[in-house]
Amino acid sequence: MGSQEVSTVDWQGKHVTVAGLGVSGIPAARALHERGAIVTVVNDGDDERARAQAAELEALGITVRLGDGATLPPSTELVVTAPGWQPDKPLFLAAAEAGVDIWGDVELAWRLRGDNGRKAAPWLAVTGTNGKTTTVRMLASILEAAGLRTAAVGNIGVSLLDAVLGEQEYDVLAVELSSYQLHWAPSLRAHSAAVLNLAPDHLDWHGSMEAYAADKGRVYEGNTVACVYNAADPATEELVREADVEEGCRAIGFTLGTPGPSQLGVVDGILVDRAFVANRQKQAQELAEVSDVNPPAPHNIANALAAAALALAFGVEPAAVRDGLRTFRPDAHRIEHVADIGEVAYVDDSKATNTHATEASLAAYDSIVWIAGGLAKGATFDELVTGAAKRLRGVVLMGADRALIREALTRHAPEVPVVDLDRTDTGAMSEAVEHAARLARPGDTVLLAPACASMDMFSNYNKRGEAFADAVRAHAEKSA
Ligand code: ADP
Repeated sequence: MGSQEVSTVDWQGKHVTVAGLGVSGIPAARALHERGAIVTVVNDGDDERARAQAAELEALGITVRLGDGATLPPSTELVVTAPGWQPDKPLFLAAAEAGVDIWGDVELAWRLRGDNGRKAAPWLAVTGTNGKTTTVRMLASILEAAGLRTAAVGNIGVSLLDAVLGEQEYDVLAVELSSYQLHWAPSLRAHSAAVLNLAPDHLDWHGSMEAYAADKGRVYEGNTVACVYNAADPATEELVREADVEEGCRAIGFTLGTPGPSQLGVVDGILVDRAFVANRQKQAQELAEVSDVNPPAPHNIANALAAAALALAFGVEPAAVRDGLRTFRPDAHRIEHVADIGEVAYVDDSKATNTHATEASLAAYDSIVWIAGGLAKGATFDELVTGAAKRLRGVVLMGADRALIREALTRHAPEVPVVDLDRTDTGAMSEAVEHAARLARPGDTVLLAPACASMDMFSNYNKRGEAFADAVRAHAEKSA
């Protein structure tokens, strides 16, 4: 059977254990129960919310075991897990010992696609440490511009299971996959896939950088048309080399420089394709202008090229790449321009929660007042600060681990003025913006790109970004 064909499982009477109530567990339990499986949901937590969710499932005839996610029910023939569950949990060790397969939500969606009689749409998959959501949404925008029925799904709001089992029929899906999801998706075979970049992240979960990279690399397994890699990140190309793909599948690189044969790149402000043309030794085709990419920051142009490569692999026309990029609007808190006040731009990149993202963000501006800090998650900041030192007008630090950034600044950029905010109350962001405004000169950018998680001061990165935007607007009113 070809790797893209739909395989059907006979669920009738099959004992399935679903690990984890939650965004993926509940729809998985329902879908399997509807298909005749005998479903037991196990969950570590036993709080009020879990009890309410359990009651709903039990009313359907699904067994739910709260407060014990560790023990494998003896009759289990298959485990379906929430993607975030750590692979060394006793439940999984017991399953492995008993020879029971473990599928994640993505694997389940892949196996169930097409079993409702609707067309099983091919998947164009995107993974990487940073830029996944942006790239997947750009890709969906391009596919839409080409007149295809599509959606951006996966680790991005709309669950794959909903997309696969819902009423709507798709021609192709733009799928964001996290390293966790890939870990638990052994038989996934995307039409084409991209790994955008690879930097250390989530190593506590995967155990090592090698294991993290290997899980990301699974996205290329069985690709039929293109494995898209980042020419500036050799680790991504290495993953393509290691992948077992269908015959005829090609490695396609993207670069911010002049593209070689089988690459997409940039020449004189134009995004060009030298991969999907008849004669790639001699020919290239124009896709879009750099100014069509929103925002036209270097890392985002890389995202646009990756999205373009996947869309072209699927057979869309170059004009759709341009149209799709022009209509694309980035999600909130991703290099979001908030205001210009007195010739200073205020930009919210609260989503830059690790150093790799912040590095890209800082590279996008010439002269920056940088607002940073929060929970460092074990990161070090020397490389980040060294790379950005020349472009820093000043720095405002806040949050639990700000001393780590401050020490790196002392080591590598001692001449840059630093304001260290020793408060974590709701007024902290307003004070940070006021300090930043004082440090900024006309033509500068005040950039919130924390390089840290937000949970020490905010409930999430959205709230942090909103606090920044509110503070900027309050500052604008004062300065008016
Ligand atoms: P993800 O879904 O992988 O978290 P997003 O598209 O939401 O990625 O972007 C997250 C952050 O990463 C953004 O704040 C942005 O600054 C940064 N970023 C986006 N694209 C890239 C890239 N190609 N390389 C490095 N950093 C990036």
